[in-house]
Amino acid sequence: METLDFCPVCNAGLFEPFLICKDYTVSREDFQIVRCKSCGFAFTNPRPLPKELGKYYKSEEYISHTDTRKGLVNSLYHLVRKYTLIKKLQSIVRLCGRPSKINPRSILDIGSGTGVFLDICTRAGFSCIGIEPDQDARTSAMNSYGLDIREETELDNMTKKSFDVITLWHVLEHVPFLNERIIQLKELLKPTGIVIVAVPNRSSFDAKYYEKFWAAYDLPRHLYHFTPKDIRQLFDKHGMKIERILPMRFDSFYVSMLSERYKRGKINYLSAVMIGLKSNLKAIRNGSEFSSQVYVIKNR
Ligand SMILES: [Zn+2]
Repeated sequence: METLDFCPVCNAGLFEPFLICKDYTVSREDFQIVRCKSCGFAFTNPRPLPKELGKYYKSEEYISHTDTRKGLVNSLYHLVRKYTLIKKLQSIVRLCGRPSKINPRSILDIGSGTGVFLDICTRAGFSCIGIEPDQDARTSAMNSYGLDIREETELDNMTKKSFDVITLWHVLEHVPFLNERIIQLKELLKPTGIVIVAVPNRSSFDAKYYEKFWAAYDLPRHLYHFTPKDIRQLFDKHGMKIERILPMRFDSFYVSMLSERYKRGKINYLSAVMIGLKSNLKAIRNGSEFSSQVYVIKNR
């Protein structure tokens, strides 16, 4: 384990305990989240060392096999996943234009997993490179879709200022060297390019409702527990600014379903749907407090 002595956002050194949460998916161990007394940023502390983190990703399984409604939930899950993939692509096309021979567009996807997102982008005409630390996922993406997927260390060898879009879909909360990684991405981005960061939102209604049972704390895999203010402050420090915030409307339902299971031992589907819905309705009213959000970030 390692203990952070300085806040990753503002560098201050005084923290207060915020929550103790259990790792519900892998180890069943308890972990602590602290809050920076200066800027309010919440982060996992102490946390496993980078070399120890791997074991907490083993047997990570989100939809229970013992669940009798598995069939329906799985089908819905895959339907939603397909829909959100198309939405992600549409947002990118809207933000940076459709790629053509005259206007080629490049995407670097960090944490590309099994490659489903980059596959849809490739078919839309983008030139794509993925970064994926897990070897099995990397091999699967290369074999299934013929994608160019590289190891994390390859980031150091890439051409500076070469990407129009850099995407991190639910990745930034997992990155041990947060500031170093942002500096690196900024270097790889074209001066007019965009960084797309999707992360859970600790200040959403479902987070406040489920507290330590909120599934998107996902300790110890999630090292940081961002609010929109934290994202703004973190990127501001690196000379970047939030251009837009887009909602991820399905995450509140998904996260509420998992949180129900952690809280009560089984999923109360009605309750999960009600909390998910309430979270979305509140977010629509107050502007930007969805369960998970997409931040479109540019150079200042
Ligand atoms: Zn701080």
